[in-house]
Parts: sequence; structure tokens; C-alpha cells
Amino acid sequence: MEKQVTVLGLGTMGGGMAANLLKAGFQVTVYNRSQQKAEPLRSAGAHIGATPAEAVKGSGFVISMLADDNASRSVWLGQDGALPACAPGTVIIESSTVTPEWVNELATSAAAHSLGFLDAPVTGSRVQAATAQLTFLVGGEEATLTKATPVLKALGKEIVHLGPVGSGARMKLINNFLCGVQLASLAEALAWIEHSGLDCTRALQVLRSGAPGSPLVNGLSARMEAQNYEVNFLLRLLEKDLAYAEQESARSGVELSTCQTARQRFQQAIAQGYGESDMSAVVEPLRQSKPSHR
Ligand code: NAP
Repeated sequence: MEKQVTVLGLGTMGGGMAANLLKAGFQVTVYNRSQQKAEPLRSAGAHIGATPAEAVKGSGFVISMLADDNASRSVWLGQDGALPACAPGTVIIESSTVTPEWVNELATSAAAHSLGFLDAPVTGSRVQAATAQLTFLVGGEEATLTKATPVLKALGKEIVHLGPVGSGARMKLINNFLCGVQLASLAEALAWIEHSGLDCTRALQVLRSGAPGSPLVNGLSARMEAQNYEVNFLLRLLEKDLAYAEQESARSGVELSTCQTARQRFQQAIAQGYGESDMSAVVEPLRQSKPSHR
């Protein structure tokens, strides 16, 4: 059981993670709602479960990498759900970016079934998932994390234990709040550069080599400039993260006013059909809007 791992959700992130577990010598069973995404992993040696419940049979560890709270609830606790089908003692690891509220509910269900539980969302994107370079932000008991460490080490370069259940989910929303606000500001800056007639390449070089040149600004300004929206991180998922961040910060009595305005930029892009593009496409509605000359 210790070498047997199930991965639930084979999207941009989960597909790469399952492949790395196979490379590390684990026996891997996978489940994905749309079954065709599982086929490439079958040829790499994975078993495929037709339902979440079937996929967790015999596994000592179950990792989920799903879109949001609703997807996670449906796969863990819905019809043929994974959680009630796990054997007692199994460690379940919720790596999706979800709310601490949902994480606490899931952890309570896990405890009722005598399962170990960690919330372990990740930083890093498609490339880091494919090359086992993720960072795990973990909430849960130390002993459970120790048990799961060989599995997480096969997927990432760093494991940060932040505290009890919910701490990883909370940290991830703080992280993505700051990413979302930077990205929306970068989109506005780039639109301003373009509409003002400045040389775009030279202006972006100034920003990249100066104080604003964070890894996010450096990486995503290049994608925006090239209009390369091949998906690393779906735009609609970042809007989801900002919505969760607003909700979660309010529970701590903090109003994220910059989050609200940034989120409007992502909502505007979704309304214009960019929800299924990479998050860097948030610049397009601004780029396309006609400058109003005074
Ligand atoms: P993705 O490519 O959109 O994959 C989403 C997964 O969730 C797919 O397996 C999808 O199944 C499944 N799903 C969605 N709704 C479902 C439902 N109602 N019932 C069952 N399954 C459902 O997303 P991703 O980029 O891999 O991201 C996965 C999670 O990691 C998200 O929480 C995201 O915010 C987070 N994350 C992403 C990145 C990134 O750079 N991409 C980085 C860090 C964290 P189908 O294939 O059937 O649609």
C-alpha cells in the first residue's frame, strides 16, 4: 500500500504529477472525469479507475488535483466518491486550490473514516508539475506529513509545513491574491504602454530590469507581448482563486480592495471569451479597447 498512489484529476497539473509518480517507481491509479485524458498515462503504466471509488482501491495515498471546491466535493464525496472507498489508514492529500472552509469539512469526513488528511496546494505551474519542481504548502499533522513525504518528494522540490489543517489552503489563497493583483496591474501597464505609443519592447525591458521586475512580471509580460496564451494556468481558475481570497480574507476581517478590482479585470476577460485561455490573456480586453484621446 505504501507504494500505491491514486491521482484524482488529470488536468494541466495532475497529468504531470501522475507521470512523475510513475517515473519515481510508485504504482499509480488515476481517475479523471473525462476519461480520454487518462489514456496517455495508461501507456506509461498507470491503472485507470472508472470511478473515484474504484480508483482508490488498494492505495495508501490519494492525491486530488481538481478545479475548485465543487469539483473536489463531487470527486471525494459525490456518487461513487473516493473518500468513503478509502481503506482506514489511507492518507488523502488535497492539492487543489480550494477554500479552507471546504478543506476543514473534507478533513472532518476523512477523520470520520479513520483516514489521514493533508491540505497541500502547490505553487509552480505546468512546467513545474511536469518536472517535479512544485512547492507544497501543507496544513495538517506532522506525523501525517512525515508519512506522505516520500510521495510529495517525488512531485516537488520543497515542502513547507504551515500549521494545522487549512493552513496550506489559506497560504495558497494569499499567494494567488498577490499574483492576481500583480497580473492585473501588469495588464494595465502594458495596455498603457501600447496605447501611449511608447516602444513596447524597450518599455518592458525597463520594467523587467527595475523594481517591478518580479518573476511573475518577467515571465508573463513576455507572454502578453507575444500574445502567447497557450495554457499554463487557466484564466478562469485565477478568477476563482481571487473569489476564494476575497471570501477567506473577509473571515479574518480584512477587506482586499485591490483583489476586488483585479478580479473585475479577470471577469471582464472571461466575459469576452478568454476564460479558457492562459491567465496572461487578461491583457486582451484592455489592449483592444480604443484609447480615448482628450
Ligand atoms: P485543469 O487543467 O482545468 O484541470 C481541472 C481538473 O478538475 C480536471 O481533471 C477536470 O476534469 C476536473 N474537474 C473540473 N470540474 C470537475 C467536476 N465538476 N467534477 C469532476 N472533476 C472536475 O486545472 P489545473 O490547471 O490542472 O489545476 C488544478 C488545480 O490546481 C486547480 O485548483 C488550480 O487552481 C490549481 N493550480 C493550478 C496551477 C496551474 O498553473 N495550472 C498552479 C497551481 C495550482 P475534466 O478533465 O473532466 O474537465
